[in-house]
Amino acid sequence: MKKSEPRGFARLIGQDEAKARLKEALEKPGASFHLLTGPAGSGKRLAAKLFAKALLCERPDSDGACDVCRSCQLFDAGTHVDYRELVSDNKGLIPTADVREAIADLHTAPRLGDRQVISIDGEQLNEQGQNALLKSLETPPSFVAFIMTAASEQMLLPTVRSRAVKIRLTNRTSEELDAILLLHGVRDVTERERAVAYADGNPGRALTLVADEAYPELRETALQLFFRLPTRRLADLLTEDAGILKRYKDAGGSRLFALIEVWGEQIRDALVMISGKDPRDSTENERLSHFVSDVLKREDAALRLARCQTALIEMKRALGAHGSVDTVLAHTLLTLRKELHV
Ligand SMILES: [Zn+2]
Repeated sequence: MKKSEPRGFARLIGQDEAKARLKEALEKPGASFHLLTGPAGSGKRLAAKLFAKALLCERPDSDGACDVCRSCQLFDAGTHVDYRELVSDNKGLIPTADVREAIADLHTAPRLGDRQVISIDGEQLNEQGQNALLKSLETPPSFVAFIMTAASEQMLLPTVRSRAVKIRLTNRTSEELDAILLLHGVRDVTERERAVAYADGNPGRALTLVADEAYPELRETALQLFFRLPTRRLADLLTEDAGILKRYKDAGGSRLFALIEVWGEQIRDALVMISGKDPRDSTENERLSHFVSDVLKREDAALRLARCQTALIEMKRALGAHGSVDTVLAHTLLTLRKELHV
């Protein structure tokens, strides 16, 4: 590691509250279970890694892991015997057998230091896997630290999440996003500015956007499709609009997901606007105002927008489950139009 690079928790830019709580947790002996939540790209996996490394470090201080001791070196090399990450199979799920095996392994004492750390992507655990974990979470060996990540705690069984110390990652400021891009070697100021402007406080998105010159076009298409939802003719919706979405899906990567994110953002901003606030400084605000005044013509506008949010979450889940794309797209468009149509 170069001298100029930040060490320990400083590698997680911003997130002062989350970092303060993780530092506090470092001082506490005994078993622990921390749940880090935040949307995709918010840095929860990075936070989990830095925390795990600091828990295992031989000489941690108030900034986290020392980055030089034997434990830190083994951690960086991915060969630390007291650290285990549960990872998914090719179906995107952590096999329950792996959970059971990891738990059985936890009952042997740590081999290097005085802790064993197990890190789990909670989004990849199905109910069975979570239940397999439950017994260990209830009565963990005193030297075990569990670290779990998930987009939201709602993705986990109440019996699991009720046992966790919850730490939420929040949106970054523009300055923090800029610093993150710089840390990742993005030297071009214009590139950074463009990514920051569209990233909505999310570092993962900012990093994707830097590499994505086609993003402004995707965004404009997303906005056009979205803002015409309230007045769209059914036939056009199901042919032309569904066709555009299908093409983004077929373009691969996460093009369609990026488009859905733009919609989600507009719905959030619309809800803020309805509550009487100005969502943020944006050149898109004029179109959003028109949209909001359309939506407000109907009863229960806020409730309708909330149902649109749910529809988008379900859409993402359904697309991830490899169902029929055409059905998912048509279903989502119809749901959104039903809620927003004037
Ligand atoms: Zn260390």
